[in-house]
Amino acid sequence: MNSASSNQTDTDSRRRLVKAGAVLLVVLLLIGLSVLQDHATKDAQARKNPTALAFEKTPEAWLAHPKEASEFERAVAERKVSAVAVDGSLVLYTDRQGGRASTRLIDCGDGCRNALAARLGELSVSNGFVLTSIAIDARTPSEKLTQALDKAASVLASLLPIVLIVGLVIYFQMRGSLSLGRTKLADKPTTTFKDVIGADEAKKALRRVAAFMQDPAQYAAVGAQAPRGVLLDGPPGTGKTLLARALAGECGASFISVDGSYFSSMFYGAGIGKVKELFTRARAAAPCIVFIDEIDGIGKRSRGGEPQGGEQEQNRIINRLLVEMDGFSPLENVVIVGATNHIDNIDEAMCRPGRFDLAVRTSLPTPPERQALFTLYLAKVKAAPAIDVASIARTASGMSPADIANCVNRAAAYAAEAGESVVSEERVYESLETHQLGGEVSASKAVITPQTLRRIAFHESGHALVAHVLNAGTVERVSIEPRGPALGVTYVARHNEEPLHGEQEMRSRLAMMLAGREAELLAFGNTSSGAADDLKRASELATSMIGSYGFGKTFGLLSMAGVPRDLIGPDVQKSLLDEARLLLEQAQAECRRVLEEKNDRLHALAELLLGLETVSGAPLKQVLSGA
Ligand code: ADP
Repeated sequence: MNSASSNQTDTDSRRRLVKAGAVLLVVLLLIGLSVLQDHATKDAQARKNPTALAFEKTPEAWLAHPKEASEFERAVAERKVSAVAVDGSLVLYTDRQGGRASTRLIDCGDGCRNALAARLGELSVSNGFVLTSIAIDARTPSEKLTQALDKAASVLASLLPIVLIVGLVIYFQMRGSLSLGRTKLADKPTTTFKDVIGADEAKKALRRVAAFMQDPAQYAAVGAQAPRGVLLDGPPGTGKTLLARALAGECGASFISVDGSYFSSMFYGAGIGKVKELFTRARAAAPCIVFIDEIDGIGKRSRGGEPQGGEQEQNRIINRLLVEMDGFSPLENVVIVGATNHIDNIDEAMCRPGRFDLAVRTSLPTPPERQALFTLYLAKVKAAPAIDVASIARTASGMSPADIANCVNRAAAYAAEAGESVVSEERVYESLETHQLGGEVSASKAVITPQTLRRIAFHESGHALVAHVLNAGTVERVSIEPRGPALGVTYVARHNEEPLHGEQEMRSRLAMMLAGREAELLAFGNTSSGAADDLKRASELATSMIGSYGFGKTFGLLSMAGVPRDLIGPDVQKSLLDEARLLLEQAQAECRRVLEEKNDRLHALAELLLGLETVSGAPLKQVLSGA
């Protein structure tokens, strides 16, 4: 066992000892108090005279025969009374025949009562009866019950706020530990690795874990270390949850899923209870995969200084998790799979051997994987025949599998809203545009004048034509429907998704970016603010080409990123900007040449766009190639 876990165990047992000691002390104190009270009562009783004791033993025998005060006075005067016991204004008396009675004298306050006592004292001597003072409870049983109930009610009323608070605390604690019972039941997924498209590396690593889980005894026999924890690291929607479920499905294991925030609780200690409960449940359901999504939610331990409140609880949760993982025996078939998008935030101690020692990366899909994903999800809806999935997949660059699943789903919703019976390619593109341009067709469409629409059509046609002629990529689709901040859009997919960009490709992209503005100039003799974003992106690329990629004379092989800022003076900055500008001007010249040369195609595409709003597929290819 490691030092962190043994410290935790020590602290736990010390805390238990302190609790037991405190309980013992309270019990001893209570016993002592009751013994003392018992002694005091016995002492007081021992000092009383036998007559008083006789009256006090069964006062009901006298109280059962109430008499008028005048009758008592007469009996005294006639010397018929043998014993009198007084408690305030209450008098119990016994006559000489042994008859018992009681009376209540007029209560005339303390002073008067003293005079009465003196008078009764005199009478006891003169008229020969025994006089004693007593202390009794003269209430009837029903009076006693009502008063006891009243008292209990008032005590309860004063205790109510405390009872409420304690009750609430207990309720939330129970809820904390029971929530696992209510919602986190293990299920048996039927998902397998076949359902996961791409992610080959991740599947390969997880297949090893699956092999172990299917026959742990064989691995234990040769002394192989059991896999305990796997970290799946990757952007959201890249199939981490799906892979974990598939792992469970592959080896017929149970699957319990929680997320990092699940352990945090507003009550101190409840998080640790949840960890314990989770592992108890996992052991009972073994073989079992426990999936902890966003594990970085608990995975970062506070460093330096004394941890405070929440941090302390966080550390205790991590420790508990590690103690539980360390406590697995080789044949206990439970594997914890943690998913994160921020692997740097995971505590080092969690990544040590025997814990989350296997890290598996998931990444965005490649174009063929995107095509397979579109094919998979389109098969789940009623899709129109002959959809160009390859083209859609190329256009969907940068989308995660979850984005693709959503995109197809949204396309189906659009089709349903429009009352169509199948999901057409057009609907898929519409949905794709909504995703990539950050919104549905915007309301600005209604205020766009025909002149502006014409300008937008030429602007987009310029981008498309130059991209096609200079081979900057495959032009998939051009649209002049405004979405989000964009008034129009041209989708140009790279021919491949290689991580490297060649110089010629970058020059072509520069020309393509500037082509919208050049087309406006050519068609209308002036430009508009519509080119602002194009110019911004072109300037960024041109500056990087000179300052970082080694295309300029000023910097040569030096990179701006590697040279300290204070060494880059105004003269260097100026020559850098001059060279970047030159690059842009060269791109502009190239772009203008293409547009002038293919002016007929530019006009043809712009007119087509003005008629259709969106052009893609064969008509687009046709007009771009001038066929
Ligand atoms: P993550 O856990 O990485 O955020 P999920 O596993 O929850 O991602 O993925 C969300 C959805 O996206 C899944 O339910 C599934 O429909 C889809 N998906 C993700 N990755 C894949 C994949 N590789 N193959 C098929 N579908 C996938």
